[in-house]
Amino acid sequence: MGQGRFYIVSTPIGNLDDITLRALETLKKVDFIACEDTEHSLKLLNYYGIKKSLISYWSEKEKVRAEEIINKIKSGHSVALITDAGTPGISDPGAVIIQRAIEENIEIIPVPGPTALITALSISGLSSEEFTFIGFLPVKQAQRRKKLLELSSEKRTLVFYEAPHRILQSLHDMLEVLDDRRACIARELTKMFEEVLRGRLSELIEKLENSKIAGEYVIIVEGITETPQTVDEALKEVKELMKKGKGRKEAVKIIAELYGLSKKELYEKSLKMDEIE
Ligand code: SAM
Repeated sequence: MGQGRFYIVSTPIGNLDDITLRALETLKKVDFIACEDTEHSLKLLNYYGIKKSLISYWSEKEKVRAEEIINKIKSGHSVALITDAGTPGISDPGAVIIQRAIEENIEIIPVPGPTALITALSISGLSSEEFTFIGFLPVKQAQRRKKLLELSSEKRTLVFYEAPHRILQSLHDMLEVLDDRRACIARELTKMFEEVLRGRLSELIEKLENSKIAGEYVIIVEGITETPQTVDEALKEVKELMKKGKGRKEAVKIIAELYGLSKKELYEKSLKMDEIE
């Protein structure tokens, strides 16, 4: 008997209908399904009438279970690994066993599907051209702020996962460390109480403080749009162009495009600078 197959299968992040045909087909054909919480996964499997032997597998047991699963695959059984929601390995267990499978030359077959970060990012209205996924911030406030400080000059869009009991505190820390940037909070995606809030961090805090906080959240925050140095440089260049005869509006338009800055803000700053000088 040759080696079995090892599938990493994405499952829904809420709505049970969000599962691919290939994921269902895979779950139906494998010998074992490795899952985090059997009770949780049974809801999905029962919904689709899938009856399989389950191997319970969660973060603390990851190392021990990884060996059991590797042995099963090596002895010819096929295994599908799923987590409670979304894509395994994304703020979820999976990394340890994948690493072990690579070491054992076991082929790993991805069966892609939903993940909360991409679902939220795709409807956030913030730039998804370049982004960085942080996942959960540290629980302790001092460490959380330190992490945010490290991220404060990041130009790419920032994507966080957060637990409901910490979301307000994290948003307050973001406002303090990152300033009042544009952001989006996506709550309970694909579920009955799905809600998407967009606005400045201060506005989102106000909205959340006046509503019931419950469920699962993704927070997306715009990357830094300008640095003090670039604004100073841009203002100098606007001045140079004006000295050469360009009107303020035209000079601002050229330089704002060149530096990727907001025309309106650069115009206002350039006016203010002339008033001060
Ligand atoms: N593996 C999952 C994925 O692919 O997105 C993430 C699992 S992680 C343990 C759980 C966190 O993901 C939640 O605390 C929340 O931040 C986010 N999340 C998962 N499902 C969500 C949903 N339906 N709506 C909003 N956020 C969700």
